[in-house]
Amino acid sequence: MKWSKMMIQTLREDPGDAEIDSHKLLVRAAIVKKTAAGLFTFLPLGMRALRKVEAIVREEMNRAGAQELLMPILQPAELWQTTGRWETMGANMFKLKDRAQHDFALGPTAEEEVTDVVKSIVSSYRQLPVIVYQIQTKFRDETRPRFGLMRSKEFIMKDAYSFDVDAAGADESYWTMYHAYERIFARCGLKATPVQADGGDMGDSMTHEFHALADAGEDGIASCPACGYAANLERAERRLENVKCKMENGGCGAYEAVPTPNARTIEEVAAFFGLPPSAFVKTLVYVADGKPVMVCVPGDRDVNEVKLKRFLKAKTVALADARTVEEVTGAPVGFAGPVKPAKADVPIYAESALEGASGVVVGANQADTHLKNVDLARDAKITAYADLVICGAGDLCPKCGQPMELKRGIEVGQVFKLGTKYTDAFKAVYKNDQLKENVMIMGCYGVGVSRTMQAVVEQSHDKDGIIWPASVAPFQVVLDLLDPDNADVAKIANDLETQLEAAGVDVLVDDRAERPGVKFKDADLIGFPVRVVVGAKGLANGGVEIKRRDQPKEAMVKVAPDAALAAIQSALAV
Ligand SMILES: [Zn+2]
Repeated sequence: MKWSKMMIQTLREDPGDAEIDSHKLLVRAAIVKKTAAGLFTFLPLGMRALRKVEAIVREEMNRAGAQELLMPILQPAELWQTTGRWETMGANMFKLKDRAQHDFALGPTAEEEVTDVVKSIVSSYRQLPVIVYQIQTKFRDETRPRFGLMRSKEFIMKDAYSFDVDAAGADESYWTMYHAYERIFARCGLKATPVQADGGDMGDSMTHEFHALADAGEDGIASCPACGYAANLERAERRLENVKCKMENGGCGAYEAVPTPNARTIEEVAAFFGLPPSAFVKTLVYVADGKPVMVCVPGDRDVNEVKLKRFLKAKTVALADARTVEEVTGAPVGFAGPVKPAKADVPIYAESALEGASGVVVGANQADTHLKNVDLARDAKITAYADLVICGAGDLCPKCGQPMELKRGIEVGQVFKLGTKYTDAFKAVYKNDQLKENVMIMGCYGVGVSRTMQAVVEQSHDKDGIIWPASVAPFQVVLDLLDPDNADVAKIANDLETQLEAAGVDVLVDDRAERPGVKFKDADLIGFPVRVVVGAKGLANGGVEIKRRDQPKEAMVKVAPDAALAAIQSALAV
């Protein structure tokens, strides 16, 4: 393929709306072009990279025994109404009507759709297990699309679904997909770590997310270097052995009210008392499924709303508005506390680390006032203690007790055990060998295909541009033809192009009438794994120049034209 025949327009400047390196580079290197906020066109170079990621996903799915199908993007509302998700998906789901006023959704996922398909075909245990998958466009009406392909309104997903006769079978399908994912990301050149995650609305049982570790990642991950425990911060747990909540100084005489004018936030109150934030108990008012609850956490910690929601088994959890806070506490916002709130019947949940907390400072449920010398067990009616905070660096690993580290990750895949949530709703049953009807057990498994492509770039780039792994590069080799008008040089370049293509190496020949510096800059920006330079000067001085994108200039080698193919192949193989 000749550069002059391809639609490639690289950009010198970063796009104004790009916040992370991979987004900037995808646009500058002519991989994608923004069509509107959260919507991108894959340009010819980007399409080639995307197709390579897809091919790896497809090969590994097929190898794992999954069968490819393709379901409609436009999904009838009836499917979603069967599980109640037509309502619960909320504003994230694009909904529309056809001309006959029938309701449809642009699929954000396809559990309902696939269950409806499988139940209509599978009726006997002999037909199970089944794993089906599709690679297709999905939609999500993001409030704030950002980070390029990471959080877009339209994206390409591989979604797979397993159907089994029992829990043991579902377990096997789960781990089959888990291991397929490990191979997929490794083959894409991505360092992806499986982490325990929260099931959220999708189901309540076991799930792992695969995260590409990167500083620009949106998700926080707690990981233990000692034993390998890794979990999304939404779910990560900790041991409490090193947590100290009893204050040494305050002792624990009766609590007393202290006027604290103009001090509302923990920082302000801490400064007022001259104590560290950990000496305070922060009390927040939440509304869970319409009912207020109070939540107490140590002053230096934040409430983990995902854990809170799971603990309360609530459908929705949100911070209460000012009016609710005033009703519950009897005071303006900023002075909530667990001791004698105005509404005595509101349940008070406290973080486990606060069990036994004594001599602490809390809000007094009274304007401009705090209470000191509070003993939670003695002075407050705590409904229950639970793990309710977000883990931090240095918290102890729940598995081995060693300190954990915090990392950031880009979620590129997720595997879920769904149980019978969908198969119950759709009455997706099979007959066992006694001809008795049983409900199928389900799992679902997603790979963000377009997101994986960007995660590769986020993990693999430098100041000059992208460094594509050979497996997913738009072209594995760029051949810079420096003197296209010199017949001898052009012939050597042409022969090498033919040889490479015959050997299954995809090569882009930069035949443009540009200065070498421009060609090299573009080659580095787009990030072809191997750059080959064929020019009159080089040929007179040792031959064809071969350089890997991930190696410095000094590692460049010169070989005779007839040795170039072998040298390029070995540069690609490493
Ligand atoms: Zn550990």
